[in-house]
Amino acid sequence: MKSQTRCGHHRKQIRKISWGKMLETPRCRKASSLSIGPMSLFLSPIKTISSTTQRRKSDSRLERRLQFDLSDVDPRTIHLFHHLPEAPKVEAPEIGGPRRDREYTLVLDIDETLVHCSSDPSLPYVFEIEVIPENHSNSTPRKYYVRKRPNIDYFLQEVAQHFEVIAFTAGYKRYANRILDYLDPEGTIFSHRLYRDSCYIKDRKYIKNLNALGRDLNKTILVDNSIEALGFQMDNGLLIKTWTSDPYDDQLLLVLDILSNILLVQASVPRYLRDQFGLSRFIEHQIDLLHQHH
Ligand SMILES: [Mg+2]
Repeated sequence: MKSQTRCGHHRKQIRKISWGKMLETPRCRKASSLSIGPMSLFLSPIKTISSTTQRRKSDSRLERRLQFDLSDVDPRTIHLFHHLPEAPKVEAPEIGGPRRDREYTLVLDIDETLVHCSSDPSLPYVFEIEVIPENHSNSTPRKYYVRKRPNIDYFLQEVAQHFEVIAFTAGYKRYANRILDYLDPEGTIFSHRLYRDSCYIKDRKYIKNLNALGRDLNKTILVDNSIEALGFQMDNGLLIKTWTSDPYDDQLLLVLDILSNILLVQASVPRYLRDQFGLSRFIEHQIDLLHQHH
C-alpha cells in the first residue's frame, strides 16, 4: 500500500501491521514483555526544569525508563501542570453513549497530529478549505491549505475497525468540521466531534478533559501533539510528535503499534501507558523539583 499525497515526492512503502493476526494471538503475553517501537521517535522530546548539571542520579534512571530526551519541556508547562486543578467532573457527557461494538475509545487531536493547515498556498497541500472565522466580526471567508500527515488514511481506516474514534480539537468548530468532513466524507470513522468550546483553558493553553466524553477512562486513549492537552489525564495520553511537513514521518504507524498492543493485552490504558512511558511520573518528578527550588 502506498501513501497518497498529491505532492508526489512522497512514495514511501508502508509497513503492514497485521491487526487481525495480532488480535487472534492468545492473551498470554505480559504488557511488559511487548516490544514497542523506539520511544525516542514516538514521543516528543521533553526537558527537565532543572539544568543538566543539577540532574540527580535518580533522574538518569527515570530518563532511561522514559527512553526519550528530557530536554525540551518548557518549564512553563510544568508550572501549568502544577497549578492545574483536578479534572472537573462532568455530570452530563457532551456526546452520546459509547458504541456497544467497540470496547476502547480512541480520541484524536487534529492539528499537527493528523493534518497541518496553513494560509500559504505556495507550499504543497492536498486540499483547501474556506472557513468564515468564528472569532471575528468580519465574515470574509478565510482560505486554508491542508496537508495530510503520511499514512493518515491507512491509520484512520485501521483504527476505525477496532475503536470508537472521537475527534477532539482545540480548533474552532467550523474549521474542524471542514477538515473532518474531508478526512471522513462518509462519516464512518469519527463517531463524535468535540471542539475548542469543550476544552478547559488555562494560561492560554487548551486542556482536554476526557471526563467530558463520559467514557471508561481505563479504555480511553488520547493521541495529541500537545503535552498541555494531556494535562488532566496524563496517563491516558499518547504524545505524538508535532507534524507540519516531513514526508517521511512514521509516527502514525508507531501509534498503531502501541494501540494494537493495548488491544492485544486488553490493557488498562492508564496503567499500560504509565508502565511504558512514565510521562506522568516524569511530570510529577518535575513538580517535585519545582518545589525544591522554591
Ligand atoms: Mg494539535
